Amino acid sequence: MEQLTVHASAQSYPVYIGENVLHQTESLLKEKLAGKSKAMIITDTNVGELYAEDLRLCLDPMLPVCVETVPNGESAKSLASYERLLTACIREGLDRQSIIFALGGGVIGDLAGFVAATYMRGIPFVQVPTTLLAHDSSVGGKTGINHELGKNLIGAFHQPSAVLYDTQTLMTLPDREWRSGFAEMIKHAYINDSEFLQWLKENVRSIEDIKTNKIRPFLKRSIAVKADIVKEDEKEAGVRAYLNFGHTLGHAIEKLAGYNGDVTHGEAVAAGMMFAMRVSNYLGLSNWDVEEEVKWLEALGFPVNIPAGFSAQTFIETMKKDKKATSGQLTFVLVEKPGCPLLKTVEEHLLYELLNNDKR
Ligand code: NAD
Ligand code: ZN
Repeated sequence: MEQLTVHASAQSYPVYIGENVLHQTESLLKEKLAGKSKAMIITDTNVGELYAEDLRLCLDPMLPVCVETVPNGESAKSLASYERLLTACIREGLDRQSIIFALGGGVIGDLAGFVAATYMRGIPFVQVPTTLLAHDSSVGGKTGINHELGKNLIGAFHQPSAVLYDTQTLMTLPDREWRSGFAEMIKHAYINDSEFLQWLKENVRSIEDIKTNKIRPFLKRSIAVKADIVKEDEKEAGVRAYLNFGHTLGHAIEKLAGYNGDVTHGEAVAAGMMFAMRVSNYLGLSNWDVEEEVKWLEALGFPVNIPAGFSAQTFIETMKKDKKATSGQLTFVLVEKPGCPLLKTVEEHLLYELLNNDKR
């Protein structure tokens, strides 16, 4: 098992990474659970069936546990599920000494974290990520839900008390979810570290490479990139924004696709990263061989072209509605070269041109 510490203003917390971490919950969290009145495990239908009972049995000797399950998928990050979970917290008698366990991928981490952030003005929670993507989302304290007018528009910063990342749970992930999560790993490499990027490019050339132990040693490194940025800028006043590389267009792609599983978060981000590189080249800030990058991502199975069927204007209007847009201006994270990101407001007519060029 490996361990690292995330430093945040309210509290520092451990991230445990390794096989069967889940089954060590009792010993790893003994101190944090001392004096707690009740635990609620929040999970989704897929993950609940696979791992909720294991976690419940680990916690059961220490405190009363209840399990709440929401449907799987992005649509669970809704006001309706949020309200239903708050009702469950009240019904089950959770109080300020209670603790929530977010057992699942990024959807559950964001949703259960937001319940924990707001129930009784905030109670503690533990992240138990079960997707590759959640190596990113479970660290850093961003929690929230979607509104039908946009993604992640309602939320709070609320750091977990601990992150238990059991890599054995990844073994049941469908290929598409491995790929989706790998996009965030690539993102960390692009914005932070040319050596890390080089290693990924040389060693990870197919979905099988992602799924096997090859990427395992780099999980900790990828989490450390995120943890370092969070330490420097917890509330996204500056450098944390670099983590949005690929997300400006990525969020618009996800929204237009309708959050129904047609496009995963990572797939949308991968297309968004390629677009941001093209923008960066176009502005003369970089010299990426974008076609080389596209070739790598396509070999891994990413659909890297911007989905057809929507006009450039529609993408631009959708990006402007994202919470990251300020006063209707579109700011992109661009990368001059691996490890050198910057923020730049990009004029609409340039985006219009590039979005039209990108459609094939
Ligand atoms: P997800 O939580 O929907 O999980 C993907 C699918 O895999 C779901 O159907 C789920 O039921 C299934 N699944 C999860 N674990 C499994 C397992 N071990 N075995 C089998 N199936 C399993 O999606 P995700 O990709 O993990 O997360 C995406 C979400 O994360 C988005 O809502 C995004 O906005 C959010 N996010 C948040 C942050 C943050 O900092 N808070 C960062 C990045 C992404
Ligand atoms: Zn993301």
